[in-house]
Amino acid sequence: MTFIFANWKMYLNNEESLALAKDLSAQDLGSNALTCAVFPTMLSVAGAVSILKNSPIAIGAQNVAWAPKGAYTGAVSAQLCKDVGCTYVLIGHSERRHIFGEKTEDVRKRIAACIQADITPVLCIGETREDKERGTQKDMLKTQILGALEGLDLGNSGLIVAYEPVWAISGSGNGDHCNPAYAQDIHTWIRSEISTLTSKFVPLLYGGSVNQENVVSYTSQKDIDGVLVGSASIKSNSFLTMRDAVASSL
Ligand code: PEP
Repeated sequence: MTFIFANWKMYLNNEESLALAKDLSAQDLGSNALTCAVFPTMLSVAGAVSILKNSPIAIGAQNVAWAPKGAYTGAVSAQLCKDVGCTYVLIGHSERRHIFGEKTEDVRKRIAACIQADITPVLCIGETREDKERGTQKDMLKTQILGALEGLDLGNSGLIVAYEPVWAISGSGNGDHCNPAYAQDIHTWIRSEISTLTSKFVPLLYGGSVNQENVVSYTSQKDIDGVLVGSASIKSNSFLTMRDAVASSL
């Protein structure tokens, strides 16, 4: 199974998000070998669910609160996302960590909330350019992995991990090209770290400036099970070109 996940961030307004969902819903995306999901803003999640309900494209949220219910102004729980029809939630995206100051402890509580609500968390991890230049990227990644997952009961729940080096993310990061061989090496290492925490298969996605031209260079790597795409995913033609390129490479 290969995953193509589209993180629409806050690039689109509600009307644009629903128009994009409508465009995608009109396409024949049938392929048993591909799992596609889109992550609209929280405001557009319910609308996208209703537009895509007969399509194979799943919906995810970009974040959730760790509390299930209560006096948490401005928050949306994992259970609410699940109730509305989300299958996935991004947790610990670098923009949440670096712009909004989310700490590893916050990430862990959100992962636990997803497990509790039976919705699949997509744990995002990634080193900064400084970590990479210092050669401490694995220390950073290990802290993020263990901090988020160690000691949680992952037995029955879904889990996906997205490796997104901050220096490769466009927009909020440096947008540098990540060599697919480098990404593959890191994925192999992440796989072995994750295997110390759970015996089940955890799909690993790569994210950071993925586009129509380079997507297959990542998905063709042995330990890269799919991609998480930001800016290149907010136009239906670029999303569909990526999807076709990956489908025909399988
Ligand atoms: C992301 O931030 O999840 C991402 C992958 O962004 P981009 O593809 O724009 O680098």
